[in-house]
Amino acid sequence: MNAPPFSRRDFLKTAMLATAGLPFAAKNSFAAEPERKIGFALCGLGGLSTGQIAPALQQTKFCKLTGIITGSPEKAKRWQARYNLPDRSVYNYETMSRLADNPDIDVVYVVTPNGLHADHTIAAAKAGKHVLCEKPMEVSTTKCQQMIDACKAAGKQLAIGYRLHFEPNNLECVRLAREKVFGNLKSIEAAFGFHIGDPKQWRLNRALSGGGPMMDVGIYALQATRYLSGEEPASVTAKATTTDKEKFRGIEESLTWQMKFPSGVTGSGMTTYAFSGMDRFNVTAERGSFGLDPAYGYHGLRGTRSDGQIIKMPDIDQFAAEMDDFAQCILANRPIRVPGEEGLRDLKIITAIYEAARTGKPVELA
Ligand code: NAD
Repeated sequence: MNAPPFSRRDFLKTAMLATAGLPFAAKNSFAAEPERKIGFALCGLGGLSTGQIAPALQQTKFCKLTGIITGSPEKAKRWQARYNLPDRSVYNYETMSRLADNPDIDVVYVVTPNGLHADHTIAAAKAGKHVLCEKPMEVSTTKCQQMIDACKAAGKQLAIGYRLHFEPNNLECVRLAREKVFGNLKSIEAAFGFHIGDPKQWRLNRALSGGGPMMDVGIYALQATRYLSGEEPASVTAKATTTDKEKFRGIEESLTWQMKFPSGVTGSGMTTYAFSGMDRFNVTAERGSFGLDPAYGYHGLRGTRSDGQIIKMPDIDQFAAEMDDFAQCILANRPIRVPGEEGLRDLKIITAIYEAARTGKPVELA
């Protein structure tokens, strides 16, 4: 059941389906009730699980919430009452091996801090469960590889929660790029950042975060340059800046980076924890340009094209689409769209970006 590596072609296929064929997808794949729904256990009941994933699960056609994994008995009680979960559906991080005895749980969705993703993914795989793991996949390429190996050894699927691979406005831009509507691409600029508040949160703790805004939201800008170009960067340069050295210890506050792609397309990215409002990408091609602003949020994405047309595709629940797709892949035993290998690829590039920022020199990528 090992999935072949995700390719640029897969993203284009998704793009064609989600843009040109979205109404058909809605009519054909989602009309009939599935014979069996895939049971999801949420591992880590923080902001994302509470605010987005659990509500999205209620909107899915192919999934249902059948378990929770949490370190907080109080939170467990609240979730049990809210989602009608019996005691046998509740686990903590130390009892994950017991998931093996629960046939109602097919998938563990790992939504804990970045530096715990490998522990929780490996525990879930060893218990015989498929895994959907939030981005970034982990804090190092070694950990990412361990996750891939563990899921392979268990014969289970490992998907990474790159929700924008299912988002119609992003997919429309991929279509514009692939169909060369404005000619060959020349350059891509992508930027995502926000002002981070609470200085005590795990996002500012290197062991749990793996880095600063690059790991957290810069990864979306990096992803955009990759899925828009359809290529992997050949080399990177980067510069990190930190003005508040008390708050940002051992992690960057802001980062800019440049990439050269094999075809000659150039990419530039920026990310920050210093201010909000930067949430965009822009693609310049031979005969025009297009982009999204905002580009990466949960809702309200839109964009413009240099020919005057507006980009405004259907606003969907990206988490519901991502989970339904994963569930359908499991039910049909077919390869998933955003496997662990895709998360590993980003971590390799981020590692190179950090090295380039540290040394001040370009880093070549294999
Ligand atoms: P959060 O801080 O709100 O929640 C994290 C959860 O992990 C909490 O319930 C916390 O109790 C639990 N946890 C377990 N062990 C912990 C430990 N040692 N230290 C701290 N917390 C611990 O974080 P979040 O915003 O829900 O992010 C969780 C994951 O989801 C991260 O990997 C993040 O990058 C990702 N994320 C993705 C998106 C997206 O749009 N796809 C958005 C937000 C977050």
